Amino acid sequence: MSFLQRSTRFGINSSQLALARSVSVTKVATAVPVDHGMKVCNPKTSTKRERVVVLGSGWGGFTVAKNLDPKLYDVTVVSPTGYFTFTPLLASTSVGTLEFRTALEPVRRLKNVNLSMARAESIDFKTQTVTLNSAVPSPATSSSHSLPPRAHNKAMTIAPEKHQDERFVVGYDKLVISVGAFSATFGTPGVYEHAHFLKDIRDARAIRKRILDCFERASQPFIKEAEIRALLAFRIVGGGPTGIEFAAELHDLITSDMKRIYPDLVGFSTISLYDVAPGILLSFEESLREYAMRRFSRDNVIVRPNSRVLEVGPGWMEIEGEGKVPFGLLVWSTGLEPNPLIKSISQADKDPRSQSLFTDNFLRVLDKETGEPMKNVYAIGDNSMIKDGPKLPATAQVANQKALNLAANLNNAGTEKPDTEFILRNKGSMVYLGSWRAIIDRTATNVSGPKGEVTGLSAWFLWRSAYWSMSSWRNRLLMSVYWGMNLITGRDISRF
Ligand SMILES: Cc1cc2nc3c(=O)[nH]c(=O)nc-3n(C[C@H](O)[C@H](O)[C@H](O)COP(=O)(O)OP(=O)(O)OC[C@H]3O[C@@H](n4cnc5c(N)ncnc54)[C@H](O)[C@@H]3O)c2cc1C
Repeated sequence: MSFLQRSTRFGINSSQLALARSVSVTKVATAVPVDHGMKVCNPKTSTKRERVVVLGSGWGGFTVAKNLDPKLYDVTVVSPTGYFTFTPLLASTSVGTLEFRTALEPVRRLKNVNLSMARAESIDFKTQTVTLNSAVPSPATSSSHSLPPRAHNKAMTIAPEKHQDERFVVGYDKLVISVGAFSATFGTPGVYEHAHFLKDIRDARAIRKRILDCFERASQPFIKEAEIRALLAFRIVGGGPTGIEFAAELHDLITSDMKRIYPDLVGFSTISLYDVAPGILLSFEESLREYAMRRFSRDNVIVRPNSRVLEVGPGWMEIEGEGKVPFGLLVWSTGLEPNPLIKSISQADKDPRSQSLFTDNFLRVLDKETGEPMKNVYAIGDNSMIKDGPKLPATAQVANQKALNLAANLNNAGTEKPDTEFILRNKGSMVYLGSWRAIIDRTATNVSGPKGEVTGLSAWFLWRSAYWSMSSWRNRLLMSVYWGMNLITGRDISRF
């Protein structure tokens, strides 16, 4: 697609091209406040279609953009990655059960949706503009190597990327804030530097490489037994669904593929899961938690509740009352902390504990001063919560349903149809436990279908079917191929 065509997709006509070109490369010295000298690079070109700017391409942002009516709205998604990550499949991709592409959907594949590959840095609610920072370095100046996979969190929090001074401004008629949240470290020293997160496909890729590196290094003839044990000590901090599913997938990899490839080494490997809480999967029914504990104990996955990690270093972590223990890989999954963009917003009402943006039942962001909905600003997903509503978990289910509700309400514009308040249709929760076993908690559902609990092989089958059916046709095809291939040839263990 030519530059002209792409610009037209952004609602910029040919007479505005020169301006747009100069605006998009305007450099400013500081991030905030918004430089009002910068011109908006997507000026309104139509009185018929409103400009909707969606910040983020996750479960909330991608879904809302996909479902907005293109006859009513000129939609632009702002995202530093440019793709949607199907997070429930990340653990499977991190051990090679699935190919990375099965968990991705590029925004560019959405019809009638523009993409700006950039990070939103600040929002000016008065002028209805957002200052963005390009996430696309110049190919001429950037390194020939791709960004380090774990640059995701690091780059946004502690180590700003080199191309951080390419800022530009987009204007909106309606703004949807759905930038999600970051992985929480609770200030534990060394986590950013030495642990792996599992939030994005690049994290999954880094984890897979690290596991394979550990086995390959342990197989070198000069490595002593103590070092082999340290290299093959796989530790996970966080006993929520993400930590549990990663432990389960890792167990499957080790007991099938690694056992075949490194038969002399697997006996030295251990999987240990730590949590500061007195148990794991605390949001699940007690009988399901007990089932999970029994399965893990049968599969030799060590669960260590009441364990507080004090510090993490290169290849070790210090646990309160226990001292330093070595690891080859440490996966850190202990909940969420606010995205810096959300922290930077001072005009909106926020939950004092989580810093999430408060919305009303129509998902409109509330003004801090007046408590009234702010004009044309909405928030969905992990960066928001409904004020005075039931406390909903930070899940894909909630983000996805909020996005669908918001898109439907926005698509009502110009009709007599009243907007509908958001009410969660709780379909239950499920977690994979390894060895083709899962648990499903449907005790609190408010939708049709059986209530109660499902465990074992049937739960595993439902777990796989659910995620298969939620993916695009392209990814369903890929998933079927990879699941089939694993049975015949084993998992993908390429290191790159
Ligand atoms: C490994 C894993 C497994 C999970 N499994 C499940 C599950 O099985 N079921 C379930 O219900 N939930 C699951 N979750 C939780 C679920 O993924 C989240 O609740 C969900 O992703 C929240 O959606 P969101 O749109 O708010 O944020 P996200 O999906 O995190 O998306 C945020 C988006 O914003 C972008 N972004 C960030 N900062 C900026 C910025 N400054 N400017 C512009 N864009 C920005 C990001 O690149 C991303 O595209 C899982 C989470 C993980 C990590």
